[in-house]
Amino acid sequence: MILYDSNLKIFSSSLINDKNFFSGFGTRQLGDGKRHVDNIFKFLNDNEISYKKVVIPEQIHSVNIGFFKSKAIDRLEKVDETDGILTNEQGIVLTVVTADCCPIIFVDKDAKLVGISHQGWRGSVKRLVQKMIEKMIDRGAKIESIRVAIGPAIGECCYDVDDDRYFEFKEEFDGYSDKIFHHRKERWHLNLALLNYLLLLEKGLKKDQIDFFPFCTRCDKDRFFSFRRDKDKDLSEMFSFIIKY
Ligand SMILES: [Zn+2]
Repeated sequence: MILYDSNLKIFSSSLINDKNFFSGFGTRQLGDGKRHVDNIFKFLNDNEISYKKVVIPEQIHSVNIGFFKSKAIDRLEKVDETDGILTNEQGIVLTVVTADCCPIIFVDKDAKLVGISHQGWRGSVKRLVQKMIEKMIDRGAKIESIRVAIGPAIGECCYDVDDDRYFEFKEEFDGYSDKIFHHRKERWHLNLALLNYLLLLEKGLKKDQIDFFPFCTRCDKDRFFSFRRDKDKDLSEMFSFIIKY
């Protein structure tokens, strides 16, 4: 179940959060996590959330996945050219930022492994979410003990795509393109979060291992930044995170 915490101003998954794992999808009330990284530190410090280090992947719409190991004692480490990141270290705040793209949080509590990824259409068509599961298994996770939470992304209501992109997706996901696309007002609309959910099922996860809520970042102006809605005036992005204790 996806829950909203009105004190922390985050959404979080009951499949993931417990005394050993803390994660959330931030709302716009927490400010821009992309250009103002201090907003992430402010959130952690104001709420007395203990941590050692914040990790920020560069996010280039790739399917590159990093396995994070602390090198320095700095409170902030950036990881170049990556859109997914995993760690088994304690107190590490793995983050991504999004405003319409889909943030996804991963955990295997038995393998003591956490991860987070950012996927827009490019990462989705290249199956980043499935590659995250493969990397977790490489690091000792088991498919049946992985839990995943899909965060707020642009909804099918607002995500119309060009015909070229439609055909690219149709070729890659022929078996379920009728589920992820709907035709409205002479445009194809893509359901990005549903696509990632279906990719997880295809990989062998069961429905009860995945938390998923039909957000739309563009429709819900009160809670989310949206690139499509505000690109002319505001390029802020929400931050999402997971920490293992
Ligand atoms: Zn919408």
